Amino acid sequence: MAGKDYYDILGVARGATADEVKKAFRKLARKHHPDAGGSEEKFKEINEAYEVLSDAEKRKQYDQFGQYYGQGFDPRAYGGAGAGPFGGPGGFQYQQVNFEDIGDIFGSMFGGGGFGTQARRQPHRGRDLAYDVTLTFEEALSGISTKVDVQRSEKCATCGGTGAKPGTGRTKCATCGGTGTVSQGQGPFGFSRPCPRCGGEGTVVEQPCSACRGRGVVTKVKPLTVNIPAGVTDGGKIRFKGKGEAGEAGGPRGDLYVMTRVKPHKHFRRDGADVVLDLPITIAEAALGGEVTVPTTEGKVKLKIAPGTQDGKVYRLPGKGAPKLSGGGRGDMKVRAHVVVPKDLSAEQKELLKRFESSRKDDVRAGLA
Ligand SMILES: [Zn+2]
Ligand SMILES: [Zn+2]
Repeated sequence: MAGKDYYDILGVARGATADEVKKAFRKLARKHHPDAGGSEEKFKEINEAYEVLSDAEKRKQYDQFGQYYGQGFDPRAYGGAGAGPFGGPGGFQYQQVNFEDIGDIFGSMFGGGGFGTQARRQPHRGRDLAYDVTLTFEEALSGISTKVDVQRSEKCATCGGTGAKPGTGRTKCATCGGTGTVSQGQGPFGFSRPCPRCGGEGTVVEQPCSACRGRGVVTKVKPLTVNIPAGVTDGGKIRFKGKGEAGEAGGPRGDLYVMTRVKPHKHFRRDGADVVLDLPITIAEAALGGEVTVPTTEGKVKLKIAPGTQDGKVYRLPGKGAPKLSGGGRGDMKVRAHVVVPKDLSAEQKELLKRFESSRKDDVRAGLA
């Protein structure tokens, strides 16, 4: 599931300075520019990487949420309604590609002008969205069905997605004559670039639909019911296929990712599918052994403490942990013995302990000699 590694793409270390990023980008952009015979895909990838890594704020975000980039993940979704801790003010603006720098380079290389990319109206998969769902410890064990208010673009119902006022249609763009591209420059250094008027589509809307202002899509908040499976962990990610943004030009919907946050429990904590409990025992219980009652996720059980139990010893209760997300079954309950040393000894208790100590003469630090 890992997304693109922008550091890898630019061939720089994670700690690279802004200058190093810029240098690496310029070198690669020269090498892979489509007008210099490079692959357009590779070139776009380099641009995308640079767009993020050259911007301190975006880079920070990428370092944090990097694995979702490159799958159509839209960080703006984090600012949406119902978004969890990633929302909030100043959510960053994500722009697809920043051509400023590259224009620079090729401006000087090819004697001015922009550079060409081919834009056509092709089916585009909708963007993926990500939302947080916060669960209690118990809900994470049992699984729940919950509602997420997803803010996503939907095909405009008024115009049916064409962007044109009902009764009108799209007409051929006069600027490019319907080709979607315009030429610039001449001879071997001539470029064709997307038509600025129609954005490369070859058609324009003369009378835009008033409901979507010609975009063909409208943004709506839609409450979606999602089933969170039993056994999810804090920081987990569940994919709901086809529940993301609507696609363009007949492309499929993106996916919805639900990130699970699990609130801490007062006794238990999770270690994958295992559930861990810290069990306080007295020094006498540790030395002599005994039977104690311990809480588990499925009620109380009796646990035998072995004589001579050391602090930190883990007792396993098989199958008393959380449901496993794959493969079925449950994890274990891990009970970790924690020997509690008394601090408020009476004179009599101190005397008993001194007598105990002098009766033993244990050299517990022999191994340190
Ligand atoms: Zn419309
Ligand atoms: Zn045009």
